[in-house]
Amino acid sequence: MILEDVNNQEAALEREFNPWLAAETRFNEAALRLGLDDGLTKVLRSPAMEVTVHIPVGLDDGRLEVFTGYRVQHSLARGPAKGGIRFAPDVTLDEVRALSSWMTWKCAVVNIPFGGGKGGVICDPKILSPGELERITRRYTAELMDILGPERDVPAPDMNTNEQTMAWIMDTYSMHKRHTVTAVVTGKPLNLGGSRGRPAATGRGCRIVTLEALKRFGLTPADTEVVIQGFGNVGGMAARLMHESGLKIIAIIEYDGAVYNPRGINPFELEKHRQATGSITHFAGGEDMDPQEALFLPCDVLVPAARENVIHSQNAGKIQAKILCEGANGPTTAQADKILEDKGVFVIPDILANAGGVTVSYFEWVQDRQGYFWNEALVNERLEEIMVNSFNDVVAFADSHKVNNRTAAYMVALDRVAFAIRLRGIYA
Ligand code: NAD
Repeated sequence: MILEDVNNQEAALEREFNPWLAAETRFNEAALRLGLDDGLTKVLRSPAMEVTVHIPVGLDDGRLEVFTGYRVQHSLARGPAKGGIRFAPDVTLDEVRALSSWMTWKCAVVNIPFGGGKGGVICDPKILSPGELERITRRYTAELMDILGPERDVPAPDMNTNEQTMAWIMDTYSMHKRHTVTAVVTGKPLNLGGSRGRPAATGRGCRIVTLEALKRFGLTPADTEVVIQGFGNVGGMAARLMHESGLKIIAIIEYDGAVYNPRGINPFELEKHRQATGSITHFAGGEDMDPQEALFLPCDVLVPAARENVIHSQNAGKIQAKILCEGANGPTTAQADKILEDKGVFVIPDILANAGGVTVSYFEWVQDRQGYFWNEALVNERLEEIMVNSFNDVVAFADSHKVNNRTAAYMVALDRVAFAIRLRGIYA
């Protein structure tokens, strides 16, 4: 291939991987098929508010540094903005904007009363001390005091932020309000207003929708072979829960290697092995495999639960799964959608498949506002009800409108948000 072709192909892939363009493609298709008028389409496409803050923070060595942070509230039509805050050196406003619109559609598809939001701070957590991270978090929160709140915008953890970050946000917000406001963030530690069942919720949601999808294929759990990419919070939990339900996990893929066993991998044993050795490779309960190849193993269910853009125009043709359960956000590019559809892959799209996390975040917010906390069985029962109903709403819509599941999920979501906007009317 000559250099110009290589450059063109790289430029095309870069466009394909742009999260804002990916979100736009799915949005446009759904809006067009719903026949939304131009005005409403513009309202639905535009973020309601975008805030950029430049925050001065004293570093441990005495220097003063200025960090840039963003918070985008894409939609408030159905309730407060909901969505994570990420800390990373390459955060961009485009990315935060795309992710915030994603949250609007995700909350709408599971029919919880939230809009979408997302935030980010450009910083490198790997070179920052806990004290520096705390000062960045507190100053970022203080700058956003006027737009955050249980009724306005409720952040959560995302890339490189965690329960501790949420506790600092909750404390800073509460100090300004002069009283404790636990419902301003979700993903908090359990004894600070967090919800039981939250850490497992996304993986649990993946299992629930996968079990529903199996019924459509007439597959029993014992007949089902699963490949999972990513053995972290979502993938690790999905693996353990699916294993408990009797599904056979034939491969687990990590960034540094994959483990394969056609007789089934025990994810509990694999986790012990990783804790002992630091890697999933050289596991006695399976054989090592090239992680690139493992993604294309013949299987019933493939769960990409690691990162975005892993299935794209150049490799989608090699996928051999019947069902694709998108545990990660954006694991499939818009260009790959068509290839998967032509192959007849049953896609459970990310905004549905991984919505178990935001659903239990919603439960956390409800419990905080009630000041009354549920046991784990109740959390799981209510999660199951919401995930099953949402799955059925989407596939029924796909069947009746003859569209693929992703388009159906977006159409259901856009329609719900559009309905709220029409009913509320435009305030002028
Ligand atoms: P995590 O960091 O706990 O786990 C991700 C795992 O994937 C890690 O073990 C990592 O080593 C592995 N990984 C990274 N790159 C890889 C690669 N190229 N190939 C194979 N493995 C790779 O993160 P998580 O919370 O499990 O999130 C995973 C995905 O799910 C992300 O896209 C996230 O946005 C999405 N998600 C998470 C939640 C949640 O509740 N945690 C909710 C919704 C969506």
